[in-house]
Amino acid sequence: MKVEMVEVGDLSTNCYLLDINNKVVIIDPGDEFNKIKKAVGDRKVVGVLVTHFHGDHIGALEEVLSYYETDLNKVKDKNFKYKVIETPGHTMESRTYYFEKEKMMFVGDFIFYNSIGCTDLGGSDKIMKQSLDEISKYPDDITIYPGHGEITTLGKEKKNFKYYY
Ligand SMILES: [Zn+2]
Repeated sequence: MKVEMVEVGDLSTNCYLLDINNKVVIIDPGDEFNKIKKAVGDRKVVGVLVTHFHGDHIGALEEVLSYYETDLNKVKDKNFKYKVIETPGHTMESRTYYFEKEKMMFVGDFIFYNSIGCTDLGGSDKIMKQSLDEISKYPDDITIYPGHGEITTLGKEKKNFKYYY
């Protein structure tokens, strides 16, 4: 699976394109539909996944769903194998998409490089801590693809969790 990042919108949201055999899954179409469309090119879009419903992650969602005639949070290609881990805290519906074989997690605004998501935009500190405890059970060598900024690894970020709460 190839991963491409398209930076979109005023808050520099990371919209990800996952590609297997020229089939594409879009994660967090935050803004700038035309930029996303150009990055997809003539490949077939087989699904759209959203990590949470803040505006900077869903700004182009309606256009993407209607243009590619696809449903939200359903992937119509069995080559994409992932688990949904509920990781509330930043918002109560925040979730992580875990591609176990590829050792990749798409976390939205749950975890960032050297940081975690804020909890004052509809979230909860207490529940954030529970989600950090839960995600800490997963292997260190997983690559974290956050909703903003640089990629990181779970092992590196785990070491910081104890300083946040
Ligand atoms: Zn957010």
